[in-house]
Order: sequence, then C-alpha cells, then structure tokens
Amino acid sequence: MAGETLPQSRVTEARGAGDVRMRVVEDAGDPMVFDVVEADLGAGLPEGMALLTVVPVHQEGGAPGFRLRGVCCCGETTEFAEVYGRPRLDLRQLDSKGGELPADVLSFMQVWSRPKAELTRWLDRRIVAHGDRLQLVIWDDTGYRIPWELFWLDYDGGRSEGWLGGVVTLTRWLSIRTAWPETVRDYRSAHTCTGPVAAYVEPRMTHDHALLTSYHVERSDSMPALAKALREYGTALALVYVACHGEFGDQVTESALGGLPLLLADTMKFLRLRSAATMVFLNACQSGSLGYDTDRFNDRVLRGFAEVFLRSGAAGVLATSGNVGDREAWEMARELFRHMREHPGRPVAEALRTLRARAATLSPADLAGVSGTAADAELLPLLYRFMYVYYGSPRTLVTPDVALGAS
Ligand SMILES: [Zn+2]
Repeated sequence: MAGETLPQSRVTEARGAGDVRMRVVEDAGDPMVFDVVEADLGAGLPEGMALLTVVPVHQEGGAPGFRLRGVCCCGETTEFAEVYGRPRLDLRQLDSKGGELPADVLSFMQVWSRPKAELTRWLDRRIVAHGDRLQLVIWDDTGYRIPWELFWLDYDGGRSEGWLGGVVTLTRWLSIRTAWPETVRDYRSAHTCTGPVAAYVEPRMTHDHALLTSYHVERSDSMPALAKALREYGTALALVYVACHGEFGDQVTESALGGLPLLLADTMKFLRLRSAATMVFLNACQSGSLGYDTDRFNDRVLRGFAEVFLRSGAAGVLATSGNVGDREAWEMARELFRHMREHPGRPVAEALRTLRARAATLSPADLAGVSGTAADAELLPLLYRFMYVYYGSPRTLVTPDVALGAS
C-alpha cells in the first residue's frame, strides 16, 4: 500500500461515547512491569506458554548484536551462550522495489536460521513438551526488525521442518516505557474482546469495506477522525480495524498511518480501549514496525504504531512488518474474519498460525530449477502472509457483534 497519497482527511465528531463516563481501569492485581530487564519473566506463565526474550547487546569489538533467553511455563530457564550479530533481514527493505527477490528473502532466512543451534534445540524441546498447545511469545527489544515468524525450524529425527510462525502459535511482545504500566494489558492472560468494530477504511479500498458488512461497525472517515473517536471514553469495542496506507522509518517523523503522523499519535491515549479488551488490526504497510530513534531522541525507546495501541491498553495488535499488496491485505483480513466467525472459541494467534501454515507449503529449495520469476510468483503469497506480526497475548479471543439483520 506504499506509494499512494491519501485524499484529504475529513474531520468528524467523535462518536459512540454514549452515556458512558470515565471508568477506572479494572484492577488486575499488582502492576505488571513491561521492561525485559526488570520483569520476572517466568512468573505466572500459563501452561503451554513459553517466552523468548531478544535483548540487544554489543558483540566483542562493539558491533551491535543480540542475546536470547528462554523461559517456559514448566520452569525451565535457558540463558543462551551465544551473542549473535545484528542481521540485515528487515522485510521492509527486502521486499521494496529494487530490493531482494522473494525467493532470496526466504533463502536468507533459512541460511541465517540453520546454524542457530541453541535456539533450534530450545524450540524443539518446547514443542516436545507442549505439542500443539505450545504458545510462544517472542519479546524482542532489539529494534532490528528480525522476522521471527520466518525463522526456519530445522528438524531432524522425523519431526517436520518449517517456518516458525506456521509451526507454532507465535506472538510478539516488547518493552513498553510508560509511567502507567497498569494500563497495559499483559501478554499472558486470556483477554476476551466483544462489542462492535470501530473502523477506518481508506475510500479506495472498497473490498475492505465489504468485509465489515456482517459486523456492527462504527465507521470513521479518516484516520485522524478514528483516533479522535478512540480518545473518548465509550462502550467496549471488540476490534479496531484500519485499512489504509502506512509508512515507517526509525525516526519518529518518518512514520505515519493513513494521514496520522506517529509524531502526533505517540502521545495519544485511546481511552476507548480502557474499559474492556479490544484487538487492533492495522492492515497497512509497515504498521507493525518498531524502531529506535537514534538521531533526535537517542533514548532507547522502541516506537511505532503497534506500541502506541498496546500502551493504550489494546489486548493485541495485528500489523505488518513490510509492504503488503492491497489484494493480499484484503485476503488476509477476509480469511481472518472468516476464521473468527467459524471458530469463535479460538484465539486470534491460533488462527494466524493456521493462515500462515496454509501459505507455507513451499520453501525455495522446492523450487530449485524453476525460473526466478516463476519461483518468486509462487513464494510471494507466503512472504506476504508472514509479514503479519501479532503483538499481545496468544490467548486473546475476538468476537465482534454481528450487524442487525446479518447472520
Ligand atoms: Zn513449559
């Protein structure tokens, strides 16, 4: 959805506040600390949940790198010995015009993943211990934008290999710098999102409009208008759906979503997300990218639209880590909504695993000998599907209200 300009935004009145007044955030016990350094990562992980933290460190000699630490519900904590260098695997660069080809992107992920022996063995042990019920949360504070969903699981001994995000239920988390951590909904609870859908769909994305007809929808005419509506207290929403153009850069001034600059969004508080759990789906290019502004602020704070919504209390943010085609973005939403309707008791993260697995039937090696263009055409749907990243609890459930007269 890159390369397009938005029509002039219209400002509309905030709506949906009704007679609901200010609410106190429900007390969830002790405030959670959302800082990978301070948090007690093993405490309170529900059965089947494992957490992998990715912490930026310097390699010997000072080059940027990262270290891994794994914790599982069963109490096993693993400090990985190796310090890995910062890879250049950002999907934002890889799939842009003039960037690398889809087949190469996937080969890079396989070649980069294969020697990560400690990680591969750790993931294998988690899968053996918890099987299909494993829920993996990757808490990545590096800002390197590593596409973990495309980590290649290299198996031996009979178990199948594959792309991580299609093999296990996988979500993301990040350290959130806030004075008010009690507002943030944690990454391990079973949040349930019910109510209407609040949406902004760019006018030219007519297919996305049609996707929402079966739901009770509160529509906004522009992204700033949706943001304004969300800043008011109001009744609970199941879902915020945004379909528009997005752009991202490490400097805050380089990021925008549908005409709303991150520079303005960063300090917004979306009070509408406070009263109850709400999932946010930002179906736009690079909407899930996070980065450190190393120029103006230099403050080691990860910023991006996904972080803004999580900081406001979103129970999950589904967004993208690259430039997704209009048609693929629409297909992703269509399939996810259909899955949610057909399996109302299944968490969003499990639906995503299913949708990724459906697209992940090939690897570049299967296409050896096929011409470059033909191989890329085969692999592009896979790459697009895995560009979707989900931040939040793997147990979050979403059941939007159906529209009156729809069934
Ligand atoms: Zn465990």
